[in-house]
Amino acid sequence: MNDKSDSNPGDIEHIRDDIDRIDADILKLLAERKAHSLRIAKEKGIHDRPSRDQSREEGLISDRIAAGMEHDLDSGLVNRVWREIVNDSVRIQQEYLGRAERPRQTMTVAIQGIEGSYSQLASQQFFDHKGMSVNYLRAPTFAAAIAAVQRQDADVAVLPIENTTSGAISEVYDLLLESRLDFVGDVRFRIRHCLLGIEGASISELRRIYCHPQAVAQCSEFLAQLDHCEIVYFSDTALSGQKIRELGDPTIAAIASEEAARLFGLDVLKTGIANRDENFTRFVVVAAEPAEVPEGVAAKTSIVMAVGNHPGALMEALAVFHDADINLVMLESRPIPNNPREELFYLDFDGKISEPAVQAVLETLMRQVRFLRVLGSYPSSDLRPRPIERKMTKVKPQGRSALTDLSPTPASPKGYKLGSRGHKEQNTVVEVAGVKIGGDDLVVIAGPCAVESWDQVMTAAKAVKESGGSILRGGCFKPRTSPYSFQGLAYEGLEMLVEAGKAYGLPVVTEVVSPEDVEGVARKADILQIGTRNMQNFSLLSAAGRAHRPVMLKRGMSSSLDELLQAAEYILSEGNQQVFLCERGIRTFETSTRNTLDLSAVPVLRQRTHLPIIVDPSHAAGDRDLVAPLALAAQAIGAHGIMVEIHPDPDNALSDGPQSLRLDQFQDLMLALGFGG
Ligand code: PEP
Ligand code: MN
Repeated sequence: MNDKSDSNPGDIEHIRDDIDRIDADILKLLAERKAHSLRIAKEKGIHDRPSRDQSREEGLISDRIAAGMEHDLDSGLVNRVWREIVNDSVRIQQEYLGRAERPRQTMTVAIQGIEGSYSQLASQQFFDHKGMSVNYLRAPTFAAAIAAVQRQDADVAVLPIENTTSGAISEVYDLLLESRLDFVGDVRFRIRHCLLGIEGASISELRRIYCHPQAVAQCSEFLAQLDHCEIVYFSDTALSGQKIRELGDPTIAAIASEEAARLFGLDVLKTGIANRDENFTRFVVVAAEPAEVPEGVAAKTSIVMAVGNHPGALMEALAVFHDADINLVMLESRPIPNNPREELFYLDFDGKISEPAVQAVLETLMRQVRFLRVLGSYPSSDLRPRPIERKMTKVKPQGRSALTDLSPTPASPKGYKLGSRGHKEQNTVVEVAGVKIGGDDLVVIAGPCAVESWDQVMTAAKAVKESGGSILRGGCFKPRTSPYSFQGLAYEGLEMLVEAGKAYGLPVVTEVVSPEDVEGVARKADILQIGTRNMQNFSLLSAAGRAHRPVMLKRGMSSSLDELLQAAEYILSEGNQQVFLCERGIRTFETSTRNTLDLSAVPVLRQRTHLPIIVDPSHAAGDRDLVAPLALAAQAIGAHGIMVEIHPDPDNALSDGPQSLRLDQFQDLMLALGFGG
């Protein structure tokens, strides 16, 4: 586009003049609107009408959002602006009428679905009960409703999570875990499905029924009797009602609520069509900030965890609740996509995180599970208030942390807690595909610095397997000191690495360098590596803490051991407990080696942390002839593993050739370490 030729600097001034004029018009219109609000207040005063009409306010804002969309205006913007305008108008009227009652708190609630949807009906039930009024932000999908809360266009989202007949709504579970929003409430809403038709419709004449897949599952017995009808799936129950209204065909029906029938002027052909009379859907209310549960109010807490994969691991985790006499109210399991070894368990239990007993349970669980995150504590909607026999302490609600009190206790003054020996006496064993890092046996991780080609990585994998190594390494995203150096083959390289690992039965580790790539890399790699240059990339650490893969954290080249442990804490505090550390040499005044291998890190870390510690002599030495003696020293000093770089043709390697062992050297090293022979 080249419109420079026909524009000149004076044009901007003209455009600004136009904008000034538009703003002046907006102000004039706002003043005019205010005058009208006052006229209404006078009318209300004369006829003694109430100062507020909540449903008109709600309807008005919804209409403005819809009208704004036609002008391509963002729904969040229109919602915020008109909420302010309407609140101001209410205030003006109440002042005039001298009835300045405290305005009801207004919430903006994001829901998936249109007016008359079960999400809206459930939200009404929830907020009416609390005496709050509500504006709805109607999102086309669950993900869009969640995004509205993340962008702060809505205060909360209300999302269906499980149904008594059709079970868990897995899409919502998965989205919520990813979102990091906090659970601040829940509501059990009775679903009363009805068969709706237009005026003149009769069941025997029906040919087609529009309905949501969940409604089909919940009304399957009734629908089986209507085998003369075609079932057409629809994304939204209320929308299906709207659709048949538009079609105006008496042979077409929809399944939705009675409220939807009223809203769209439809006839209810039959009520109570669900398989079970008791058909409830549980909706969760989620927000960007955790809820503060007032003292004395019965509360429920939701968590998500992954337990170890030894027999009885789930039972051991549940026993922690049993031993603390804490009542579990819900347990739901969900697989993790592309990670068949892990299963996530969602649990709801009676109590809130500020209770010492609950804190104690969470701390105990943290020591034995692979992943744990608190989704939130909130007033319980379906539990009878119980006597609060436990001593309550008032604790400020904490953000998204896995535990409530992550600030270091006097016993751990160094800025880390979950990684400390004080928190967990026993060594953590990180387990991946049967390989135990942190157990009694030395684990050897080996492979090329960077994945360069199919042949290269396959040849290296074969050498690792045949020499007795346990894990294949290979960089795909390379954090090179110079931007002109080879940066890695990215996801294409990852495919090669994973295939080579599969071919030789070796789990793989690869480095991830940006938070956005954590999910994509975790889908394929068995272990995520965070490299030296990223040890204090806190958003990357947090993202890895939310992943369901073990993380190998390398020490920063100018970082102290306490800083390394504080960095590990970022991962642990997000939920992921499968972390191991790697000493890879630090910068000193000594120039004979690339870095100086700090072997004392091993015994020091073993004192301070329960996390496994491995040693990377390759990056420390920078010279392949020094790798073997340093590796043997690491074994002698008690490292849980070593990681070395190997290459079938190191002289032609695209990165770190000088420090990469030839395959014959690697084999000799393995013999010296006590493998094979
Ligand atoms: C690596 O392991 O390939 C690597 C880049 O190491 P470091 O982060 O220790 O430099
Ligand atoms: Mn390297």
